[in-house]
Amino acid sequence: MKKKLVLIIVLCLMLVIALSTMVLMLLKAVSLKADEIVYEYGQPLHIEYTSLLDTEDQQILDSLSVDESQIEYEENQTYPKVGEYSIPLHYQSFFKKMTTSLKLIVKDTTSPQFDKSTNEINLFVNDQLDIEASFSCSDLSGCKLLYDTSQVKLNQEGSYPMQIKAVDPYENENIMDFMIHVKSRPVASVGNQVTIVNGLLIVNKKHGIPSDYATTEDPVAKVQIQKLISDMQALGYDISSDYNGYRSYSIQRDLYNSYVSKYGQAKADTFSARPGYSEHQSGLAFDLHHQNRKLVKNENEVQWIAQNAYKYGFIVRYQKGWEAITGYQAEPWHLRYIGSKAEDIYRSGLTLEEYLGVEGGNYR
Ligand SMILES: [Zn+2]
Repeated sequence: MKKKLVLIIVLCLMLVIALSTMVLMLLKAVSLKADEIVYEYGQPLHIEYTSLLDTEDQQILDSLSVDESQIEYEENQTYPKVGEYSIPLHYQSFFKKMTTSLKLIVKDTTSPQFDKSTNEINLFVNDQLDIEASFSCSDLSGCKLLYDTSQVKLNQEGSYPMQIKAVDPYENENIMDFMIHVKSRPVASVGNQVTIVNGLLIVNKKHGIPSDYATTEDPVAKVQIQKLISDMQALGYDISSDYNGYRSYSIQRDLYNSYVSKYGQAKADTFSARPGYSEHQSGLAFDLHHQNRKLVKNENEVQWIAQNAYKYGFIVRYQKGWEAITGYQAEPWHLRYIGSKAEDIYRSGLTLEEYLGVEGGNYR
C-alpha cells in the first residue's frame, strides 16, 4: 500500500512539474529577431513588425499592436528625424499581456554632395576671392563649406593647391582639391583695351592704353636704358643721365593740352600723344636728352642710338619716312623697350606696326 501511495505522489509531482513548465513556456515573452533597426536618414519608415517577432503562433501575431508615438518625423515628410526611438510592441501571450521594445536608430551617414565645383579658380592680381561663387553643396541635413584661403596671396602672381570640404552636422564630409591661380592683369579695365601681339604691347593712335596700365617704369627696361646711357657716356657721347621715361595719364593729358593750346590740335597730334595713347604711359618708352637737357638730335648720338639700341633691347620707334604708319614725326630720341625681339625688328627695317601686323596711322 505504502509503495502504491509513494508512486501516486511521485506521478502527481511529475504532472505538476510538466504542467507548470508548459504554462511557463506559454507565458514566456516572445523574443525579437533583432533588438534594433537602423535606418538611413531620409528613408521613408516602413517596418514589418510581425516578421520581427520570433514566433509562428498566429494568435500572438494577430494580437500584436505597435506604439509608434515616440517617433518624431520631419515636417511634412515620411522619414523620421535623426535619433533613437523606442517602439513598444504589445501582444497577448496565452492569457497574459506582454510588451517588448524595439529600438529604432535613424542615422545620417550620407556625405554631402557638391552641386557646383571647379578644378581651378583663375584670378587677376588684387581681384576678390569668392570661393562660394565657385562651390556649393547640398545635403538632406544641411551642409557647409570649409576651406582655408589664408595662404593665398592676392597681391602677387602665384598658384595654390587648395582643398575644400563639404560637411554636414553629422561629420559626414566630401573633399575636393582645386587650384587657385593668381595672374597679373593683362588688361586694366579703364577706358581702352590693351593690344598685345606676339607678346608685344602696341600703343599708337589706333591702339590706346588704359589710364592705369602702369604706374612706373618697367624695371627691366629701366636697367637697360641706364646701361645704354652709361655706355654712351663712356664712349664720349653727349648724353644726359636724365632721361624722360614713364608718364602717367594725367601728366600726358596736361602735356598734350598745353601743346594743343599753343599749336592747335592738328599740329599737336603730329608730335604729342593724346592721353591714353602715349607709349610713355606703358613704362616702356624713354626719351633721351643731351647734357643741355634738350632732346637728342645731334647726328653723332642719333646715329649711334639707331645702330646700337637693339643691343639693349630697344627700337627707335618713330623714324623718318614712317610717319603715315607710326602716326608721329621722326623722334630719334624716343626708344621703346622690346626685349629679345628688338634685334629682329631692327634688322627687319619695319615699323613696329608692320612687324606685328597691326593698324597704325591717325586716330579714328
Ligand atoms: Zn617719347
